[in-house]
Amino acid sequence: MTQKKYFPIIVSSPSGGGKSCICREILKKNKDILYSISYTTRPPRENEDDGKDYFFISKRHFRKMRRNGDFLEWAKVHGHYYGTSRKVIENALSQEKFIILDIDTKGTKKFLKRMPEALSIFLFPPSMKILEKRLKNRNTDDEKTIQFRLRNARKELADSWYYDLFLINDEISIVVDKILQEVKNKSEGIYLN
Ligand code: 5GP
Repeated sequence: MTQKKYFPIIVSSPSGGGKSCICREILKKNKDILYSISYTTRPPRENEDDGKDYFFISKRHFRKMRRNGDFLEWAKVHGHYYGTSRKVIENALSQEKFIILDIDTKGTKKFLKRMPEALSIFLFPPSMKILEKRLKNRNTDDEKTIQFRLRNARKELADSWYYDLFLINDEISIVVDKILQEVKNKSEGIYLN
């Protein structure tokens, strides 16, 4: 039998694409998958906790970590800085765990240069209209921010060709099962490119 392989799992989608919901379901269903908590300079939203959703840090702290090489990748997204901790990823893999990253397309490109063995998945919203509706329904951003995020979404959709897998994020449970199946296949060496 081939040895099971562990690797990072990148899940990207435009803001409002439903990634966090998908990631939560995946974590519930497979205890071998950990979540990579990113560092960000964005202020926390009302329902977010430091150390759970993100590590919320100042720009100065972020710059220091960047200088120290603490990030495996980092990017400026929607006007704020976000970065993936090298230590978090290395720890997970050394404990023989998968680790799921919810990061943007620019960060993914950088990450894949460092760790090409990662599985990268891009979630498409069923349509731009539905994406706009989802952004409005979550009530976390004002109209200006929503329009800014929609403009970025168009760029991200156009910049997704290098992902391993594309899925349409229509039915959460179906998307979750597809991702888990893909992880299993790749881990057992039956990944078909
Ligand atoms: P939000 O502010 O809505 O939580 O996230 C905004 C965007 O930043 C999302 O597309 C999310 O995937 C991305 N993001 C979150 N953490 C990271 C990270 O560590 N690195 C990069 N490159 N993007 C991230």
